[in-house]
Amino acid sequence: MSTAIYPGSFDPITLGHLNIIERAAKIFDELVVTVMFNAAKKTPMFTLEEKLEMVKKSVAGFENVRVESSDGLLAEYAKQFPGAVIIKGLRAASDFEYEFIMDQVNKNMNPELETMFLTADHEYTFLSSSIVRELASYGAELKGYVPDVIIEDIRAKIAEGGK
Ligand code: ADP
Repeated sequence: MSTAIYPGSFDPITLGHLNIIERAAKIFDELVVTVMFNAAKKTPMFTLEEKLEMVKKSVAGFENVRVESSDGLLAEYAKQFPGAVIIKGLRAASDFEYEFIMDQVNKNMNPELETMFLTADHEYTFLSSSIVRELASYGAELKGYVPDVIIEDIRAKIAEGGK
Protein backbone atom coordinates (compact mmCIF):
# COMPACT_ATOMS: atom_id res chain seq x y z
CA MET A 1 0.00 0.00 0.00
CA SER A 2 1.40 3.41 -0.96
CA THR A 3 1.32 6.10 1.70
CA ALA A 4 2.11 9.80 1.51
CA ILE A 5 2.47 12.36 4.27
CA TYR A 6 1.47 15.97 3.58
CA PRO A 7 2.91 18.15 6.36
CA GLY A 8 2.22 21.81 6.95
CA SER A 9 1.30 24.39 9.52
CA PHE A 10 -2.18 24.90 8.03
CA ASP A 11 -2.73 28.18 9.90
CA PRO A 12 -5.40 27.94 8.49
CA ILE A 13 -5.87 25.36 5.71
CA THR A 14 -6.52 27.04 2.33
CA LEU A 15 -7.97 25.92 -0.99
CA GLY A 16 -4.34 25.70 -2.21
CA HIS A 17 -3.63 23.07 0.44
CA LEU A 18 -6.90 21.30 -0.34
CA ASN A 19 -5.99 21.17 -4.02
CA ILE A 20 -2.71 19.41 -3.17
CA ILE A 21 -4.57 17.02 -0.84
CA GLU A 22 -7.12 16.16 -3.51
CA ARG A 23 -4.43 15.47 -6.11
CA ALA A 24 -2.17 13.48 -3.76
CA ALA A 25 -5.12 11.41 -2.54
CA LYS A 26 -5.67 10.24 -6.11
CA ILE A 27 -2.06 9.13 -6.53
CA PHE A 28 -1.54 7.36 -3.19
CA ASP A 29 -3.62 4.67 -1.47
CA GLU A 30 -3.45 6.60 1.78
CA LEU A 31 -2.65 10.22 2.59
CA VAL A 32 -1.80 11.41 6.07
CA VAL A 33 -2.19 15.16 6.48
CA THR A 34 -0.01 16.19 9.40
CA VAL A 35 -0.42 19.47 11.20
CA MET A 36 3.10 20.33 12.36
CA PHE A 37 3.52 22.62 15.33
CA ASN A 38 6.33 23.94 17.51
CA ALA A 39 8.27 24.78 14.35
CA ALA A 40 10.46 27.85 14.07
CA LYS A 41 7.43 29.75 12.70
CA LYS A 42 6.11 32.71 14.60
CA THR A 43 3.15 32.40 16.95
CA PRO A 44 0.28 30.87 15.01
CA MET A 45 -3.12 32.51 14.74
CA PHE A 46 -4.96 29.28 15.55
CA THR A 47 -4.32 26.74 18.30
CA LEU A 48 -3.32 23.23 17.29
CA GLU A 49 -6.81 21.98 18.20
CA GLU A 50 -8.45 24.63 16.02
CA LYS A 51 -6.15 23.87 13.09
CA LEU A 52 -6.79 20.13 13.41
CA GLU A 53 -10.53 20.68 13.57
CA MET A 54 -10.50 22.86 10.44
CA VAL A 55 -8.34 20.39 8.48
CA LYS A 56 -10.56 17.47 9.55
CA LYS A 57 -13.72 19.29 8.45
CA SER A 58 -12.12 20.19 5.13
CA VAL A 59 -11.04 16.65 4.25
CA ALA A 60 -14.14 14.89 5.58
CA GLY A 61 -15.16 13.91 2.04
CA PHE A 62 -11.97 11.99 1.29
CA GLU A 63 -12.05 8.32 2.27
CA ASN A 64 -8.31 7.72 2.13
CA VAL A 65 -7.20 10.88 3.94
CA ARG A 66 -6.60 11.08 7.66
CA VAL A 67 -5.36 13.89 9.84
CA GLU A 68 -2.67 13.79 12.51
CA SER A 69 -0.40 16.22 14.29
CA SER A 70 3.24 16.22 15.29
CA ASP A 71 5.50 18.49 17.29
CA GLY A 72 8.63 16.64 16.27
CA LEU A 73 10.99 16.67 13.33
CA LEU A 74 9.36 15.53 10.11
CA ALA A 75 12.23 13.12 9.33
CA GLU A 76 11.72 11.38 12.69
CA TYR A 77 7.93 11.46 12.51
CA ALA A 78 7.99 9.84 9.04
CA LYS A 79 9.84 6.77 10.36
CA GLN A 80 6.56 5.40 11.70
CA PHE A 81 5.33 5.10 8.11
CA PRO A 82 7.91 2.86 6.40
CA GLY A 83 8.06 3.51 2.66
CA ALA A 84 5.93 6.64 2.86
CA VAL A 85 6.91 9.71 0.83
CA ILE A 86 6.55 13.34 1.81
CA ILE A 87 4.37 15.55 -0.38
CA LYS A 88 5.11 19.26 -0.69
CA GLY A 89 3.39 21.90 -2.76
CA LEU A 90 5.44 24.36 -4.80
CA ARG A 91 4.07 27.79 -5.61
CA ALA A 92 7.16 29.70 -6.71
CA ALA A 93 10.92 29.53 -6.97
CA SER A 94 11.16 30.74 -3.38
CA ASP A 95 9.23 27.67 -2.18
CA PHE A 96 11.65 25.49 -4.15
CA GLU A 97 14.76 26.97 -2.54
CA TYR A 98 13.45 26.36 0.95
CA GLU A 99 12.06 22.91 0.20
CA PHE A 100 15.26 21.83 -1.55
CA ILE A 101 17.24 22.59 1.62
CA MET A 102 14.63 20.87 3.82
CA ASP A 103 14.84 17.77 1.64
CA GLN A 104 18.63 17.59 2.09
CA VAL A 105 18.30 18.07 5.84
CA ASN A 106 15.59 15.40 6.06
CA LYS A 107 17.67 12.96 4.01
CA ASN A 108 20.63 13.46 6.37
CA MET A 109 18.43 12.33 9.25
CA ASN A 110 16.43 9.72 7.39
CA PRO A 111 18.14 8.62 4.15
CA GLU A 112 15.15 6.50 3.11
CA LEU A 113 12.82 9.47 3.08
CA GLU A 114 11.82 10.77 -0.34
CA THR A 115 10.00 14.04 -0.97
CA MET A 116 7.76 14.54 -3.99
CA PHE A 117 6.64 17.95 -5.18
CA LEU A 118 3.32 18.91 -6.72
CA THR A 119 3.23 22.28 -8.41
CA ALA A 120 0.40 24.54 -7.32
CA ASP A 121 -2.53 24.81 -9.71
CA HIS A 122 -2.29 28.19 -11.46
CA GLU A 123 -5.36 29.58 -9.69
CA TYR A 124 -3.72 29.01 -6.29
CA THR A 125 -0.13 30.10 -6.87
CA PHE A 126 -0.75 33.36 -5.00
CA LEU A 127 -2.56 31.74 -2.09
CA SER A 128 -0.98 31.27 1.34
CA SER A 129 -2.20 31.00 4.91
CA SER A 130 -0.63 34.38 5.65
CA ILE A 131 -2.68 36.05 2.90
CA VAL A 132 -5.82 34.46 4.37
CA ARG A 133 -4.92 35.72 7.87
CA GLU A 134 -4.36 39.19 6.46
CA LEU A 135 -7.69 39.22 4.59
CA ALA A 136 -9.53 37.82 7.59
CA SER A 137 -8.16 40.48 9.91
CA TYR A 138 -9.76 43.14 7.67
CA GLY A 139 -13.06 41.29 7.53
CA ALA A 140 -12.67 40.58 3.79
CA GLU A 141 -14.63 37.90 1.93
CA LEU A 142 -12.91 34.51 2.38
CA LYS A 143 -14.94 32.52 -0.12
CA GLY A 144 -12.61 31.21 -2.83
CA TYR A 145 -9.61 31.27 -0.49
CA VAL A 146 -10.45 28.66 2.14
CA PRO A 147 -12.89 25.73 2.25
CA ASP A 148 -16.45 26.99 2.82
CA VAL A 149 -16.81 24.80 5.91
CA ILE A 150 -14.18 26.74 7.86
CA ILE A 151 -15.14 30.32 6.97
CA GLU A 152 -17.26 30.68 10.11
CA ASP A 153 -14.45 29.32 12.29
CA ILE A 154 -12.09 31.98 10.98
CA ARG A 155 -14.69 34.71 11.46
CA ALA A 156 -15.29 33.54 15.03
CA LYS A 157 -11.56 33.62 15.77
CA ILE A 158 -11.28 37.19 14.48
CA ALA A 159 -14.36 38.18 16.50
CA GLU A 160 -12.76 36.88 19.68
CA GLY A 161 -9.69 39.01 19.00
CA GLY A 162 -7.38 36.50 17.30
CA LYS A 163 -5.03 37.88 14.70
P1 ADP B 1 1.82 28.36 4.06
O1 ADP B 1 3.13 28.40 3.31
O2 ADP B 1 0.65 28.84 3.26
O3 ADP B 1 1.88 28.95 5.45
P2 ADP B 1 2.08 25.64 5.05
O4 ADP B 1 3.35 25.86 5.76
O5 ADP B 1 0.96 25.12 5.86
O6 ADP B 1 1.48 26.88 4.27
O7 ADP B 1 2.33 24.75 3.76
C1 ADP B 1 2.27 23.37 3.74
C2 ADP B 1 2.60 22.88 2.36
O8 ADP B 1 1.60 23.31 1.42
C3 ADP B 1 3.93 23.35 1.77
O9 ADP B 1 4.45 22.30 1.00
C4 ADP B 1 3.49 24.51 0.89
O10 ADP B 1 4.43 24.74 -0.15
C5 ADP B 1 2.20 23.99 0.34
N1 ADP B 1 1.27 25.03 -0.10
C6 ADP B 1 0.83 26.09 0.62
N2 ADP B 1 -0.03 26.84 -0.11
C7 ADP B 1 -0.12 26.25 -1.34
C8 ADP B 1 -0.81 26.56 -2.54
N3 ADP B 1 -1.57 27.65 -2.64
N4 ADP B 1 -0.68 25.72 -3.60
C9 ADP B 1 0.13 24.64 -3.49
N5 ADP B 1 0.82 24.30 -2.40
C10 ADP B 1 0.71 25.09 -1.33
